[in-house]
Amino acid sequence: MTEKTEQKVLEPLIYELSEPERKGVRMPEPDVPTTDIPADLLRDDLNLPEVSEIDTVRHFVRLSQLNHAIDIGFYPLGSCTMKYNPKVNEAVARLTGYAQVHPLQSEGTVQGNLALMYRLQQWLCEISGFKYTSLQPAAGAQGEFAGILMIRKYHLANGDEKRTKIIVPDSAHGTNPATTTMAGLEVINLASDEIGDIDLDELRKVVARHKDTLAGMMITVPSTLGVYEDHMVEVIEVVHEAGGLVYMDGANMNALLGVAKPAELGFDVMHYNLHKTFSTPHGGGGPGSGPVMCNDKLAPFRPGPVVEIVEEAHDEDDAPLYGWKMPEQSIGRLKAFHGNFGMHVRAYAYIAAYGNQLRDVTNYAVLNANYVRSRLDDTYKVPFNRTCGHEFVLEGRVNGVEDIHALDISKRLMDYGIHPPTNYFPLIVPEALLIEPTETESKEMLDQFCDVMLKIAQEAKDDPELLHKAPHKAPIRRVDEVQAAKQLVLCCQPVVSSTEERGEKPQEAVAS
Ligand SMILES: *Cc1c(COP(=O)(O)O)cnc(C)c1O
Repeated sequence: MTEKTEQKVLEPLIYELSEPERKGVRMPEPDVPTTDIPADLLRDDLNLPEVSEIDTVRHFVRLSQLNHAIDIGFYPLGSCTMKYNPKVNEAVARLTGYAQVHPLQSEGTVQGNLALMYRLQQWLCEISGFKYTSLQPAAGAQGEFAGILMIRKYHLANGDEKRTKIIVPDSAHGTNPATTTMAGLEVINLASDEIGDIDLDELRKVVARHKDTLAGMMITVPSTLGVYEDHMVEVIEVVHEAGGLVYMDGANMNALLGVAKPAELGFDVMHYNLHKTFSTPHGGGGPGSGPVMCNDKLAPFRPGPVVEIVEEAHDEDDAPLYGWKMPEQSIGRLKAFHGNFGMHVRAYAYIAAYGNQLRDVTNYAVLNANYVRSRLDDTYKVPFNRTCGHEFVLEGRVNGVEDIHALDISKRLMDYGIHPPTNYFPLIVPEALLIEPTETESKEMLDQFCDVMLKIAQEAKDDPELLHKAPHKAPIRRVDEVQAAKQLVLCCQPVVSSTEERGEKPQEAVAS
């Protein structure tokens, strides 16, 4: 065997499949007159791989199978809500009338799509208790960004230029301080109390200290510790009394649907993560949708355009006429065109399918998380061991075994076909594993996960090396994560396939 064929047998991850003169498809002879391509448009140094169709198909199918996916197995990645995405939503989003419209088509030709967006706006309002929304933001973090800019613009409109500070509890999602900073405002960090809640006394002190410069506060609900705050209404009142506005990070509304309305709790503005709460496949990082919701105070500043009724229906058989409107003092556009419409369709389909049973989503999400928590809390330390929302944090260590870390447990889970929970986040819990089972899992699946977690704790005691060396079965062994993040190799760089160089080792894949 040559070195190359040997590698092919031993190393399924081979990338360098190119053979000179090999072709993927054969084009038929043209049946129209041909024209010469201008010489200055032709290149002869285009180093494209020369591969057959079957090798190409196998290459990409094999790559796709190296990834874990929600459609393959359990995916308890806390905060990310990797729940099952009903296939019917995908079918609906692919209907030609939705998928093939052009964003520059005139309003008159897309009334159905505008009606869908309008109704979605109304449903999101009804679920959250807010009166106003904009479907523009293309992700949760962008919804936050919009909300913070709206708060800033509100203060500026009131002549309150000095209000530039946003309080962010240390149990907030990492995007909260990041968006605040990106919007040019200043973050004031607030420590949590011993049960994981916002420390109300501490908050009062911080608010008093920054009374005249306070723009507002951003609160992740439930917090990234997975808990519902005991004193949310008081917290909001304290900030309001000082003239600040309160933002709710509602990326995890699957813990509140049909149970609590953020507007009724006193929040001024929030965002949803449609791709999490109302299902859109988002494991690959997008696209997403993060509609921002707000009350009267902030409505004029919403990003736009938003869908409004421009002419009411004349009678029962008639439909209203929908059109685009820019809110009067809008912070402007956040992205081209009208937001990620495909996500709006999926969210519409999801909400329509549940109808007035939407509350079940939250009930099961919360029940499932609490079930898993109560099966694991004898074996693993759960630092804030109280009734949780849709997720909870445990410490990824095993009693009596030094040197077992959250990462070892996560890597070992992969050997059992389970995606690791979120690691080392939230930052305030050492060796954090943030576990979100979601509402779409069966009791059998939850039990299987718990059994595996208990088994891993036993393995850690019997044979810690087994965990240190894990994963043993994944396509790639344990990678150097620092190296992988610092030296990202996201595409295969073509290797010159001259005969002399063909024996070379192929470009190594770096997993991140
Ligand atoms: C996922 C998440 C975000 C960010 O959402 P993206 O769509 O990824 O930008 C923000 N806050 C919380 C609490 C989240 O869970």
